[in-house]
Amino acid sequence: MEHPGNLFVVAAPSGAGKSSLVKALRSFDARVYPSVSHTTRAPRGQEKHGREYFFASEQEFDAMVANNAFVEWANVHGKRYGTSKKGIQDRLANGEDVLLEIDYQGALQVRESFPQAVLIFILPPSWEELRSRLENRGEDAPEVIELRMKNAEEEMAQVGKFDFVIINELFESALFDLKAIIHAQRLKYASQRRLRGDVFDSLNLS
Ligand code: 5GP
Repeated sequence: MEHPGNLFVVAAPSGAGKSSLVKALRSFDARVYPSVSHTTRAPRGQEKHGREYFFASEQEFDAMVANNAFVEWANVHGKRYGTSKKGIQDRLANGEDVLLEIDYQGALQVRESFPQAVLIFILPPSWEELRSRLENRGEDAPEVIELRMKNAEEEMAQVGKFDFVIINELFESALFDLKAIIHAQRLKYASQRRLRGDVFDSLNLS
């Protein structure tokens, strides 16, 4: 689908710092709209329906799949997650920038429907660092950490299919990289022509 807005897709293995980076980005950049996914997993902690996720039953999710309501969906760590078409198509068509924080399987599916999507992969600097981040966040039991480490191997093997790679060694530097990718995308001719039409008009440029 052709669209004037930029579509950014960020994927990473769990523990690479994806959510923190996206959260920090949002506090600087209100022009990028974070899509809210649907999931069959239960809410955690303070999560609210419609804010972090739309929490759906297996039947509700099945119905959305049957109605072709998702741009992409995937099974991640045993639960289903999906991006609804409704949530992003209108925004992109209106020229807004949308950011999806999803897993690599979903990211590669998004590219099928939106060839202009910008796919960004976040890597940890090393296996040791990934493990220590998973352990230090204190959210998961040891066997869950082992599973996440095993899944990370499969996930990171896909990095070559992405357009950009950010190595999250130092948080501030990784955030700078993420902002730079978004900024560069907005400097492309089509974006500038749309956003700064006044300048093009005053210079008599088409
Ligand atoms: P969590 O349950 O920890 O919030 O998310 C688990 C994983 O699912 C993360 O890698 C997250 O990015 C991914 N995820 C969240 N929403 C979606 C989605 O709509 N589609 C896909 N494919 N993955 C998602």
